[in-house]
Amino acid sequence: MEKFDLVIIGSGPAGTGAAFKARSLGLTVCVVEKRDTGGTCLNRGCIPTKTLLHGADLLRETREGERYGVNAGDLQFDFPKLIEWRDTVVSTLRQNQNTALTKAGVTIVHGAARVEGPGKVSVKTDSGETALEAAAILVASGTTPALLPILGHDLPGVYTSDHFLEGTGLLPKRLTIIGGGVIAVEFAAAYSSFGSEVTLLVRSSLLSVMDREIGQTLALQLKKRGVVMYTKARPERIEAKDGALALTLTTEGGGEAKSVTVPADAVLMASGRTPDTNLFAPGCTPELTAKGFIKSDDNMMSSIPGVYVAGDISGGAQLAHAATAEGEYAAACIAAAVKGGGNKASHAQVIPSCVYTTPEIACAGITAAEAAEKGIPVAAGKGVFGSNGKAFLENQERGFIKLVFHAESRALIGAQFFCNRATEIIPWAVQCIGDGTTAEQIERTVFPHPSICETIAAAVSDAITRGGLK
Ligand SMILES: Cc1cc2nc3c(=O)[nH]c(=O)nc-3n(C[C@H](O)[C@H](O)[C@H](O)COP(=O)(O)OP(=O)(O)OC[C@H]3O[C@@H](n4cnc5c(N)ncnc54)[C@H](O)[C@@H]3O)c2cc1C
Repeated sequence: MEKFDLVIIGSGPAGTGAAFKARSLGLTVCVVEKRDTGGTCLNRGCIPTKTLLHGADLLRETREGERYGVNAGDLQFDFPKLIEWRDTVVSTLRQNQNTALTKAGVTIVHGAARVEGPGKVSVKTDSGETALEAAAILVASGTTPALLPILGHDLPGVYTSDHFLEGTGLLPKRLTIIGGGVIAVEFAAAYSSFGSEVTLLVRSSLLSVMDREIGQTLALQLKKRGVVMYTKARPERIEAKDGALALTLTTEGGGEAKSVTVPADAVLMASGRTPDTNLFAPGCTPELTAKGFIKSDDNMMSSIPGVYVAGDISGGAQLAHAATAEGEYAAACIAAAVKGGGNKASHAQVIPSCVYTTPEIACAGITAAEAAEKGIPVAAGKGVFGSNGKAFLENQERGFIKLVFHAESRALIGAQFFCNRATEIIPWAVQCIGDGTTAEQIERTVFPHPSICETIAAAVSDAITRGGLK
């Protein structure tokens, strides 16, 4: 039986983040993976979606390139070629990650792991079953797409994001997407640019966990690109009709409730994911939350001694960078428990949320509305892009930057960016929020010209003058 300090189940961002950190802290590490290494993020999530979105942007920008003197004439779009590029991107990054793990001294075992008890893992591989022993086990098994249990959910033509992101890819003429979160809006953005007729069914409003103006502005932009949207909508059933699908929904979006049937060639269910906890021997299941995620203490340990959790499975932010940070934190806690010597690591405090539409969306910290609900006194400012040269020359559609300051300490406590390259600028806000940077300190920052981030200065100035940050 092979022995390790740490056996990690799952090679997504949480598992690999933990593996590198644990090796750097001197632990012997084995990672067990039942599918392709890299997890959801690399194989069926972040990377393939962003590859499709990049292709979609290039296509749309070329189509609209006339103002820049770009005329592609009889523009052709070869979808299988884009899928080929997606696969090259994914397989190259996967290979690079495997090499980096191996170079770091991590043992990778391919197979389905099961926790048999504290310190004991069995792995079903192609050639049989292997037993592993470990001082600690880290479960980083992630989530899988959930299908809404409505009538017709199992019909051919009803898909999850996995079907769209793996294999030959899908380019339906009429695509109906159920969901109003990040995955749903990214698919709506990409597929409307590819030329699909996209219908979006949103339970409440778009990106409802973010600042309200973000969802409202994005809805306008998607509608401009031809996306049909039903808000306050509930899917009732899907039927096979005339060689296609017919999705019946009820919507209260227009004020009064009505029933609508939407024809579709494909339905994408992007309305939730299920925690993958099917990996514990009978009698050895840790305590779960009401939503089925694995409960853990401050050191990421589950209710089973020596069995830790990290990433999506712990019920946190459901984001790759949050999973990586949590994996690294868990590894530090495990190293302290296994080797002694104390633990100086702490939980990541500020986790940014990003949406890769055009323009991009990126948020960190609190919104002004959340602050009001919590009774936190704030002064908020908004910078718009009307006089931002970089945004104008890039033909950026409507956008804004909002900054939320604590009215008394004057520290930045929230930021919402709806602009080109928002996902590249948000780490600035993450750091300012983490460090308690004040409005005056930000005012003293010189932003490069011309740049998108220049509008940060306008937002601070607005918080001081109009927002009342005296
Ligand atoms: C379409 C889509 C787009 C996304 N885009 C973004 C984005 O742009 N940015 C972002 O931050 N997040 C994004 N996410 C979310 C991100 O992918 C997840 O938050 C992240 O992958 C979670 O990492 P994880 O390590 O916790 O789990 P996962 O990445 O899901 O990895 C878990 C791994 O564990 C393996 N596993 C499970 N059970 C076992 C077992 N018994 N034995 C062996 N192996 C096992 C699984 O096969 C899997 O490889 C996206 C998700 C989706 C679906």
